[in-house]
Amino acid sequence: MNSLIFSLILMAVVPSCSRPDQTQIYKQQVNKDMTQDKKNPYYSRTDTTHLNVSDADWKKVLPEDVYEISRKAATERAFTGKYWDFEGLGTYYCAACGNALFKSDAKFASSCGWPSFYETIRNNSVKYEVDKSYGMVRTEVLCGRCDGHLGHIFDDGPAPTYKRFCMNSVVLDFEPDNK
Ligand code: FE
Repeated sequence: MNSLIFSLILMAVVPSCSRPDQTQIYKQQVNKDMTQDKKNPYYSRTDTTHLNVSDADWKKVLPEDVYEISRKAATERAFTGKYWDFEGLGTYYCAACGNALFKSDAKFASSCGWPSFYETIRNNSVKYEVDKSYGMVRTEVLCGRCDGHLGHIFDDGPAPTYKRFCMNSVVLDFEPDNK
């Protein structure tokens, strides 16, 4: 009799147990999408505290292509990035640290082959440094939270700022508005 009661309880419990398991898998997937890589403990879309992380530690947690651009100032080839001609509505975050950088309404079609924006989401989303590499004098754009290289800024953008933030797709994470 006891075993019959146990079996009935088991039948009642097992189907409901399968649902939390699936929910857990879904949550893990969403979490992975949000953080790009769960190994990266510095990634946050809510914490704006400035990061001081060593190059060796970044190398441990960033995907190789993100590391090469964010920490070594490499540049993706023009017209090859996932966002240069992308028109989705949403927010762009730093792929290394999760810092909010641009809204899609500040993105404009540029013929340069890299995603281009005319303003950042906040004034301190990014910082600037003079870049004299390759025999040119340019203004480098770095993430305001992790100091990672994002691209350069030029004075040939559209109104109202007339600036062109010329970014690398690899170091941007896009989050659609309707997600
Ligand atoms: Fe960053």
